[in-house]
Amino acid sequence: MTTQEKDNAYIWHPLTQHKTSSLPISIARAKGALLYGEDGTIYIDGIASWYTAMYGHCNPYIIEKVTAQMQELDQITFTGFTHKPAVTLAEKVLAILPDNQQKLFFNDNGSTAVEAGIKMALQYHHNKGMKRNTLIAFEEGFHGDTFGAMSVSGLSVYNGPFEDFFIHVERIPVPQENNLEEVLQKLKRIIDTNDCAAFVYEPLVQGAAGMKMHTASGLESILNFCASHSILTIADEVMTGFGKTGTHFASLQMNTYPDIICLSKSLTAGLVPMSLTTCSQDIYDGFLDDNTAKGFFHAHTYSANPIACAAAISGVDLLTSPEMQANIKRVHEKHSAFAKAISQHPKAINIRVSGVILALELNVKMERYGSLRNELFNHFMDRGICLRPLGNTIYVLPPFVISDQQLDTIYKAIEEALDTF
Ligand SMILES: *Cc1c(COP(=O)(O)O)cnc(C)c1O
Repeated sequence: MTTQEKDNAYIWHPLTQHKTSSLPISIARAKGALLYGEDGTIYIDGIASWYTAMYGHCNPYIIEKVTAQMQELDQITFTGFTHKPAVTLAEKVLAILPDNQQKLFFNDNGSTAVEAGIKMALQYHHNKGMKRNTLIAFEEGFHGDTFGAMSVSGLSVYNGPFEDFFIHVERIPVPQENNLEEVLQKLKRIIDTNDCAAFVYEPLVQGAAGMKMHTASGLESILNFCASHSILTIADEVMTGFGKTGTHFASLQMNTYPDIICLSKSLTAGLVPMSLTTCSQDIYDGFLDDNTAKGFFHAHTYSANPIACAAAISGVDLLTSPEMQANIKRVHEKHSAFAKAISQHPKAINIRVSGVILALELNVKMERYGSLRNELFNHFMDRGICLRPLGNTIYVLPPFVISDQQLDTIYKAIEEALDTF
């Protein structure tokens, strides 16, 4: 049997309707911005394998550091024990995060980073003797697939069967050029009529919604409003974190910082799963008490796995290097020039760029996972480009190290899609 046939025999894939979907593509290896199919086909990884491998696949610097760590310490319980890789990572991440972030809690993936953030916020109020049972979130947000994270997510394609079991959430629209008053009015109404614990949001770019972007000034007004009503703010930077919007974190583009930040996707440079939930001193202090039960009793077996920490330390080293910062700027400038070049195309609407993220809508109606969308996906794959359009939204979020030539290949395929569909 081929890999695909064996896969089909044994494996249940995420986000897949196995009755109607085609067999998955088997990838044998990856290097830099390229994926090498088992059948010899080469693809440009235009989405950095879901925004993880930002410094390039199988990056030699990361591999060297991780290999060294593997020979020293593989795994140790993180309750009652610690190790240098965790502490070094904490120092390095806190040094680049918004400066109100003071403590860092380890989880395994984006969903559990958000889950822990929500639990921290709920317990923070609980520890103060306040019952606050409502969360506030943006329409069309995506925060993951565990129950708390699903509750705050606003994309019902993923959540339909589970909605009866959710935490109570009230939603506000994302701030646009001309709706800020309306958003703040709605927020005020929600706060007046509910006991709100926290506002959970993807700052500046909503990834799964189709790379929808909103203004920093609008978001800042919302954050200020929450702060003045002692509603905690939880920035889900699982997608935006580590340079994707141009700054190390999207939250740095506002003057008001969140109380809690969730990080994952490119934290370990695409090597292994790990995530962080970071918080301000005030949040952390809210759990200090002679009463043990006021502590945060949440744990994952692999918390702060040393190998994952080593990968993350090297990831931060690379992110903050002048070479990588130059790459981020270069990709941003290429995207901006391309966005300008296609701005008059009748099929291209809502073209937008933030950092290394480029997105646009094809002016053709498509279901999120419908057959025309699959044709669009195949249009790119046939040209050796891995992009995953969300309905009629085409987006590119390449590894920072992608070459100009590889970017041009992607742009050309997008232009062809505009002319074809
Ligand atoms: C991907 C993503 C998550 C979920 O992360 P997983 O690692 O897939 O659980 C949460 N929030 C945002 C913004 C994401 O992009």
